[in-house]
Amino acid sequence: MELKEAICNKLKQDNDLDYSPSQVVVTCGAKHAVMNTLLALCQRGDEVILPSPYWTSYAQQVNFVDARPVMLHTNDETDFKITPGQLQEAITSQTKLLILNSPSNPTGCVYSETELAEIAKVLERTEVMILSDEIYEKITYDDEEHVSIASFPSLRQRVILINGVSKAYAMTGWRIGYMAANQAIIEAVSKVQSHSTSNACSISQKASLAALRAEPGIIIEMVKSFYERRNFLISRLQKFPGITCSLPKGAFYMFPNVSKYFGAEYQGKAIRNSTDFCSILLEDAGVAVVPGGAFGSENHVRISYATALENLKEAMERVELTLSKLRPVS
Ligand code: PLP
Repeated sequence: MELKEAICNKLKQDNDLDYSPSQVVVTCGAKHAVMNTLLALCQRGDEVILPSPYWTSYAQQVNFVDARPVMLHTNDETDFKITPGQLQEAITSQTKLLILNSPSNPTGCVYSETELAEIAKVLERTEVMILSDEIYEKITYDDEEHVSIASFPSLRQRVILINGVSKAYAMTGWRIGYMAANQAIIEAVSKVQSHSTSNACSISQKASLAALRAEPGIIIEMVKSFYERRNFLISRLQKFPGITCSLPKGAFYMFPNVSKYFGAEYQGKAIRNSTDFCSILLEDAGVAVVPGGAFGSENHVRISYATALENLKEAMERVELTLSKLRPVS
C-alpha cells in the first residue's frame, strides 16, 4: 500500500494525474505490466496497433496472447512518429489496443503535446484502448518534455499507463514496474497477476519506495551524462560515410540507418541486412549493437549508450576502423 501511495503521489506531482491506490498494480518490471495487460485484455482475433520500429518484446507479447500485431511503419523522415491519418486507417472493428511508447526504445523519438492531441482526436472517435509505456519519461533532452496521453480527459478511462523504476533510477535488476488504469482493468490485471506470481518482490518494493521518495535532483546528473553521450555519438556518427541518424530526443538509444552498406563486401561476403552489419561490427570491432530487424526496421541498427563515455569513445574508434574496410554502395 505504501508503494502504491507513493506511485499515486508521483503520478500527481509529475503528470498531474489523479489515481487512487486501487487503480494501481505493482508488477515485476514494466515488461511484466505490458504482459499482464495483454493477457487481461486481448484474445484471439484482436488487433493491437504497434508503431514500428517498436520495442522488440511488444510484438512477441502480442503474438503470445494470440492477438495480431498491426504495424504502423515510420522512418527517419518523420522522426519515427506515426501520423493521425496512418492511425485512422489502421483502426478496424477488431482493434483492441494501441501501444504507444514515448520516449521510444529503439528510436528515442518523443511525442509532443500537440502531436499527442492529434492522435487523441482520432482515438476519441473509437473504443480503442491505449497502453502507454512511459518507462523513459525522465530521460528527455533539448527541452523536450514527456507528456502522458492519460492527461487527455477524453481518453483517460481507456489508458493503461505503465512505468517503473528500471530506467529513471537505473534499477533494472530490482524488477519493479507499475501500471495505473481504471478499476475494471486493474481488477482483471490483478487476477492475472495473482495467479501467475502473487506479488512483486517485497524487498524490491521497499527499494522502489526509497527511489520514488528521493529528491528529484538525483536523476538530473544521470540525464546530463546521457545527454553528453548522445551528443558525442551523434557527432561521431555523422562523420561516417553512408550512415544517417536522426537526433533522439529521449531514452538512451541511437537508431542509425546503415542501409547504404547493404551490398558492400566484407572478407568476400556481401552484407545483406542489419544482422550481417552487426555481425561484422561484433567480429571485426568487438562492438555490440542490435540489428534493427529485431525492432521491425531492417535498415537500422540500435546503439545503446547506457555505458560510460570512455567506452563509447573506444567503440567509435573501433567502428571507424571497421567501416574504413567497407565501402558504402550508394
Ligand atoms: N518498456 C520499454 C520500452 C523498454 O525499453 C524496457 C526495457 O528495455 C521495458 C519496458 C522493460 O522495463 P522493466 O525493466 O521495468 O521490465
